[in-house]
Order: sequence, then structure tokens, then C-alpha cells
Amino acid sequence: QGAISFKDVHFAYDPARPILKGISFEVPAGKTVAVVGPSGAGKSTLSRLLYRFYDIQSGSITVDGQDIRGITQKSLRSVIGMVPQDTVLFNDTVAYNIRYGRPSASEAEVKQAAEIAQIGHFIEMLPEGFETKVGERGLKLSGGEKQRVAIARTILKAPPILILDEATSALDTTTEREIQTALDVVSKNRTTLVIAHRLSTVISADEIIVLKSGEIAERGTHAALLEQN
Ligand code: ADP
Ligand code: ADP
Repeated sequence: QGAISFKDVHFAYDPARPILKGISFEVPAGKTVAVVGPSGAGKSTLSRLLYRFYDIQSGSITVDGQDIRGITQKSLRSVIGMVPQDTVLFNDTVAYNIRYGRPSASEAEVKQAAEIAQIGHFIEMLPEGFETKVGERGLKLSGGEKQRVAIARTILKAPPILILDEATSALDTTTEREIQTALDVVSKNRTTLVIAHRLSTVISADEIIVLKSGEIAERGTHAALLEQN
């Protein structure tokens, strides 16, 4: 479930400056496709289009064969989990922030998702900058811990489709490796679109697409791309 198809997608924020110039690729159900390329190539724009922050000007994007323009934003987003580069947390407890992924979840399910993401010990804490009713200061969460909150939210939501948009690129190398391991677990058997800066972080993707100036410059497995370069 959750097969994604981009067909001849054209998109520009400003009509005078095309950003995506005819992009076609598929993410088969349950597989992982990574989009890599230099900054400004249009990688994040692809993920924003799939999440329908913007609509494309021509071509089509489909999920399970259905054009996403025919799906309400709410039902589209209910099948997609997004882990961005920097997770912005709501002014409430970590548990609340996790529950946002599926408001109907029980307390036990929230706790379990937090434990899988290894933040079970501070789900009643408030993120930094917020204050509890008794005046305690919020907990300062590191970048890695914030990403674990986003991961726990996604585990709880359990969507068939996952978008990882530079989800580890703001982290130091050790934390990046830890979060990557957690993300590998979450993305297993889910249709996953990974946006990454470097080829070395997406070794296990089923296909890698190299985007340059809004066009697909190369595509293939990690091994095949290494051989060509
Ligand atoms: P990447 O993720 O590959 O770094 P982006 O998709 O973020 O690239 O951006 C592609 C191009 O689109 C860049 O030139 C960027 O400046 C431009 N861009 C991104 N977001 C917007 C926006 N909201 N309005 C106008 N231009 C934008
Ligand atoms: P509403 O229209 O009720 O405010 P939203 O548009 O905020 O709902 O969200 C619709 C669905 O998308 C919900 O299932 C929500 O959990 C999910 N969702 C919204 N934003 C994100 C996000 N950044 N990451 C993961 N899921 C999200």
C-alpha cells in the first residue's frame, strides 16, 4: 500500500523560474527511494508537493494510482508521516507532541511509541521555552531528541508512506548514526521517500535519484552510481 508516482512533474514557485522540469519516478509500495543532489536542486520541493503544501503546474503525482489533487489534504496527510530536518514542537508535553500523530491513541500506545524511539523517560516533560503550571522550566531537548519525538509520533501514527526530508542532516555524526538506525526501523516495509544531501547516507535505498537544477541527472542503486562516478 502507498505506491507513489511522479509523472512529468513541472513546478515553479515563481512562473519566471522553473524549479522542477519534468520529473518522473516511482516509489513502489513498501520500497525506499532517495533523492540526493546539491542544495537548491529542488529536493525538498518534491517532498512539499507530495505533502500538498503546493500544487504542481503540470504532470501528475499519484498515490495508489489516485491523483493527489483529488484527495483532501486531510486524508492525504493521514497516510503520510513526515520527519523534517528540524522538528518544531508544540507548546505542550512531549507526550502531547507524540500523540499529535494519532490523537485517538491510548496512553499506553503513546508510551510504547516513546520507548521504541528511546525517549520513554521524559514524555511528561515540556520542551524548552515552555513552563509548567507550577513554574518549572521546560526541558532542553537536543536536536537528536527532537528527532526522536518526530520518530515516536510517526511510530504511533504508523502511516503507509514516510517522507524523511533531511531528517538527520542537522545532527552531529554520532547522533546522525543513532537516529538513522531508528529511522531504518520505522521505514522498513513502508513506502519511503528520503531526501538527503549526500549519497553516503542512503546506501540501502532501493533506488537513488540524483537531482540537479530540477532535472534527474542520474539514477540507480548506490553501487551502480558509485561505479559510474
Ligand atoms: P533543495 O531541497 O534541493 O535544497 P529546494 O527544493 O529547497 O532545494 O529549493 C529549490 C529552489 O526553490 C531553490 O532555488 C529555492 O531557493 C527555491 N525555493 C524553495 N522554496 C521556495 C519558496 N517557498 N518560494 C520561492 N522559492 C523557493
Ligand atoms: P487538521 O486539518 O485536523 O488540523 P492536519 O491537517 O493538521 O489536521 O493533519 C491532518 C493529518 O496529518 C493528521 O492525521 C495529522 O496527524 C497529520 N499531520 C499533520 N502534520 C503532520 C506532520 N508534520 N507530520 C506527520 N503527520 C502530520
